[in-house]
Amino acid sequence: MPGFNERIQAALEQRRRDDLYRQRLTLESSQGPTVRVEGREVLNFCSNDYLGLAAHPEVVAGLCEGAERYGVGSGASHLVCGHSAPHHALEEALAELTGRPRALLFSSGYSANTGTLGSLLQKGDSVFQDRLNHASLLDGGLHSGARFQRFRHSDVPHLEHKLAGVTEGEKLVVVDGVFSMDGDVAPLTDLAAACRRNNAWLMVDDAHGFGVMGPGGAGSVAAAGLDVDDVPVLMATLGKALGCAGAFVAGEAPLIESLVQSARNYIYTTALPPAVASAALAAVRLLTTEAWRREHLEQLIRRFRAGAEAVGLPLMASTSAIQPLLVGDAGKALELSARLRVAGLLVGAIRPPTVPAGTSRLRITLTAAHSEQQVDRLLEVLAEEAAQVL
Ligand code: PMP
Repeated sequence: MPGFNERIQAALEQRRRDDLYRQRLTLESSQGPTVRVEGREVLNFCSNDYLGLAAHPEVVAGLCEGAERYGVGSGASHLVCGHSAPHHALEEALAELTGRPRALLFSSGYSANTGTLGSLLQKGDSVFQDRLNHASLLDGGLHSGARFQRFRHSDVPHLEHKLAGVTEGEKLVVVDGVFSMDGDVAPLTDLAAACRRNNAWLMVDDAHGFGVMGPGGAGSVAAAGLDVDDVPVLMATLGKALGCAGAFVAGEAPLIESLVQSARNYIYTTALPPAVASAALAAVRLLTTEAWRREHLEQLIRRFRAGAEAVGLPLMASTSAIQPLLVGDAGKALELSARLRVAGLLVGAIRPPTVPAGTSRLRITLTAAHSEQQVDRLLEVLAEEAAQVL
């Protein structure tokens, strides 16, 4: 009888044959517009460090000061004795920034999503998810015990049709604010209106909008002019625009308190290191004082799109920092990524199951730390290499 070893080997070999094998890089530098890989400086167009804060001196100082004062490990879960002053101050700053009464820290976005959905939903409820939602939302919904339905990407009439078909239990609609692999923004105003009409709550995962969009970087929900009544459950991560790690959920006090009391991923896990909270506080301060980062990023996005259009590159319809170039075939996406690497550019090839079959792509991300010259270099190399591969 074949055992685990044979099965593992067969699955790995199949992955290789399908061009779906994933390879890790080992960085020898901090995040930034350039990174060091295998002893070589390369231009980095694949990180989510959208504002260039991951290695910002003030964020690093926040971490160091936090570690000097509070040590490294938080020592326990939040409800035992792991909740410290920097966690508390960060929660208050995030609540204020997002215009919500309370915010609650989680150790990761994955954990925040699965924990929140698991706590909020019960058997008999229904959860409706955009089919391109992040894996953590899909997993949280699938494991919640609620009836799970997907609707076509950003198709509000399709959602509404599904909502209208449910007459029992609570209804929760869940979307990414900015879709992580496509870069497009969810139709939040229409979604909120559909939820209102159908007595449903809306949850937005703003991992890729928070810090980058909206007034003061408050995110895609604030950018759409929506508040806590429109979007009662707002989740965002601290590992992207804020350049740190962790995540939070913000909302009315009873929702947040119910997560404290019953979200298993909150209760049964060690709190983030307090120094990380202290670093994130420094990053939040930079969001408000350095609006130029968002403005510069906006300008680079426009420059990149105009340049790509001029040379006929198959960009997807995105106005965010995520600018995917549609390739289709997984092997070709890998080949293009490898060619860019040889030319000194780091851009990841995203393949199934992360994206639907036949839609493999290069996920190009721009950040406020890039210069115009670096974006021009990206365009130049892309035009040359895409002509060889596509
Ligand atoms: N939601 C979205 C939309 C994401 O893109 C990610 C990160 N890839 C997560 C949640 C998970 O966040 P984290 O990396 O903090 O676990």
